Amino acid sequence: MRILLVDDEEAILRSLGEVLKDLGYEVATALDGDEALKQVAALPVDLVISDVKMPRMDGIALLSRLQAQAPDLPVILITGHGDEETAISALQEGARDYLRKPIRVKALLAAIKRVQDQQQLERLLVEERDKLVHASRLASLGTLAAGLAHEINNPATFVKGDLQLLEKSWTIIRQVLEDLPPGQVKNPQGLAFVMQEVPGLISGMQQGMERIIRLVREMSLLSRSEKQDTQRTVVDLGQCIEEALQMERHVLPPRTQVQKVQDTIQLQTRADAQQITQVLMNLLSNAAHALERMPDPTIVVRTRREADWNTIEVEDNGAGIPEEAKPRIFDPFFTTKDVGRGTGLGLSICRGIVQDHGGQIGFESHEGKGTRFWVRLPALA
Ligand code: ADP
Repeated sequence: MRILLVDDEEAILRSLGEVLKDLGYEVATALDGDEALKQVAALPVDLVISDVKMPRMDGIALLSRLQAQAPDLPVILITGHGDEETAISALQEGARDYLRKPIRVKALLAAIKRVQDQQQLERLLVEERDKLVHASRLASLGTLAAGLAHEINNPATFVKGDLQLLEKSWTIIRQVLEDLPPGQVKNPQGLAFVMQEVPGLISGMQQGMERIIRLVREMSLLSRSEKQDTQRTVVDLGQCIEEALQMERHVLPPRTQVQKVQDTIQLQTRADAQQITQVLMNLLSNAAHALERMPDPTIVVRTRREADWNTIEVEDNGAGIPEEAKPRIFDPFFTTKDVGRGTGLGLSICRGIVQDHGGQIGFESHEGKGTRFWVRLPALA
């Protein structure tokens, strides 16, 4: 902490400065208000301790100038012995605290500590407020995404149906065109072009629609109202793991080793089995992506019972998560994958599902070494 001492008496500056330096503070000094203002503008200062009685600009005037120049900078004023009125007006003007002359070291330290505590509290408040703003932004993003998903779902479904019909129709049209006697075709080049391009166009549109429908499905999972409690039964987590592995096996890079380290007891939870399998599929598919082009790709799926919790871990020795991405990976639409490969919804859906089940999800990751995700769900007694 860097403290700026302001007093017109050099002896006081020196003695107070020595005391504070001995206590480990960095100290700067100024002999009058103007010099203090210059120092604050030029150097980082965390606290100003100023005498009130000074020629030209007194401590109260300095305080009001400082408030305009650096509103967050705390100021402690030093008043004369018994000068209650000045002390009160100092506080009214915005001083954090006041000290009476002669200054006792204990009182000085206590005042500095109060300022530090208050600053810490203010920092915490700002952090908490930022977290709340972030959470409410994410919540409205989730609602917006779910609303959009609902609106897109209908047209997407009928376009998908129409494309199937178009594919069937094309088989008939192609047959008719192929059967045309060559003499009846007025534009053979145009016909050859159509015959060559149309199948690719149809399958391109089908792939695009599949992507849209997958995105819409994931987006609608973000909305709490679409999640239903009715599907909850007693679920064997080992079985969910088997199913998820079965479904994701085809996306694992070649030669990926999958190791299962399971607790000897059967882990049971009251849950929606499909949703828990979905969580594990998302974690496995992320692990698969992280393992691409890595030597000895390995995934370890671990289960264990700890007190009232069943824990499942999915660990990979893949690329790891960069430090700057770590705070954002659970945010909807945050992805580091190429367009078309990642929607950025997987982990935010996982978190929604796990939280809905009264559980917790988290991770540990080291860049270049790998990542371990853990999911904790309440165990059945
Ligand atoms: P998506 O997979 O569509 O990108 P997710 O929400 O599932 O969306 O993941 C968000 C991001 O978190 C990924 O793009 C990736 O950067 C990071 N991530 C998640 N799991 C892993 C993992 N096992 N290893 C490395 N990075 C991961």
